[in-house]
Amino acid sequence: MENEELSFDGKILNTPYGKQDAYGALSMPIYQSAAFEFATAEDMEDAFKGKTSDHTYSRITNPTVQYFESRVQAITNALSVTAVNSGMAAITNAIITLAQSGSNIVTSKYLFGNTYSFFATTMAAFGVEVRFCDLRNADEVESRIDDNTCAVFLEIITNPQMEVADLKAISAITKQKGVPLVADTTIIPFCAFKAKEWGVNIEVVSSTKYISGGATSLGGLIIDYGNFDWLSSPKLHTLAKEFGKASFTAKLRKEILRNLGAYMTPQVAYQQSLGLETLSLRYDRATTTCLQLAERLEKHPQVESVNYTGLPTNAFYALSNAQFGNKPGAMFTFNMASQEACYNFLNKLTLVRRATNLFDNKTLAIHPASTIYGNFTPEQRNEMSVSEKTIRISVGLEDVEDLFRDFEQAMI
Ligand SMILES: *Cc1c(COP(=O)(O)O)cnc(C)c1O
Repeated sequence: MENEELSFDGKILNTPYGKQDAYGALSMPIYQSAAFEFATAEDMEDAFKGKTSDHTYSRITNPTVQYFESRVQAITNALSVTAVNSGMAAITNAIITLAQSGSNIVTSKYLFGNTYSFFATTMAAFGVEVRFCDLRNADEVESRIDDNTCAVFLEIITNPQMEVADLKAISAITKQKGVPLVADTTIIPFCAFKAKEWGVNIEVVSSTKYISGGATSLGGLIIDYGNFDWLSSPKLHTLAKEFGKASFTAKLRKEILRNLGAYMTPQVAYQQSLGLETLSLRYDRATTTCLQLAERLEKHPQVESVNYTGLPTNAFYALSNAQFGNKPGAMFTFNMASQEACYNFLNKLTLVRRATNLFDNKTLAIHPASTIYGNFTPEQRNEMSVSEKTIRISVGLEDVEDLFRDFEQAMI
């Protein structure tokens, strides 16, 4: 059967290797080698000039990493996929590919903490302005875009606020304005969300989360859908005359990625490629449990409110359902009466782990205000709607009854 005709899991499991393995290995071998040798000087020249796809040096490409990328490409129908060594590396490499001094980025204040810091501090030092706006307000988004806007950046569901981006509305604006839409989709994996169908141009993912297969390793992915006209990009329009739809990937792979050096290692590519094989299975289990827990906690007297976009009572339910289906991820938050009540709950947990990270096979609980956002001022936390009454849960693969029992005994 042709790979394109297969289902999601079929595509992952049947993605062919770039070359036939010498020993017929069923699992892609880990090519743990910094460099690759050539039969002749001419072959070497061709490889360095990009005339052949032979590997030269593992900071640039590596067979194991390339195989992982080709599996992701098979399930996303992307023009190209680039694997890097963390979610933050995916975000920084993608943004540096697009931005230059004088550029601005239009985004929301509701961002992953390091992404916020990267925009507001790191990029600001190089003359790139960040324009925070309310992404629910289409007019505001439109009015903040100008000729120097290099990207509109968003997270499809923000964490811990759980605000859902209206991708149809936002992508209509970015398309009309000729600005690429860059989306961090870490919170909902490829099996439940098809970014291309919702107008995303560049997708960035922390593969540390769902894809790694149980928090085995850090990784990131940059996915280029080839659906943007780069002639309208202030930085890439010259390149666009030569590379057309592939201009972003050309800039990323031929310059930014190799200069910044945040390559994915072959061991990690192996682990995360294996993680992909069970992604839809794990996602289905964790999200089913997540919805059940959210429903039960909503009724608990010690819980003031539950925030999960899969609950019909949630303000984003309809939008979330349209974009991500009826089980929108394995993370939810809930509010208790006070920070003290939250700490009390956390300290009594016996099965659920007190830890950061998302989408491990183990269920994790954290108090975001005092940890992830602990270095922000109370005013900044307020602006970011991070409350000291909130607990965040990342649901793993344990039995729902075991988890609920642990929650209940910790609430007393
Ligand atoms: C974890 C996370 C990141 C950063 O990923 P790392 O792999 O830790 O660098 C970025 N965005 C979101 C939404 C995340 O959850």
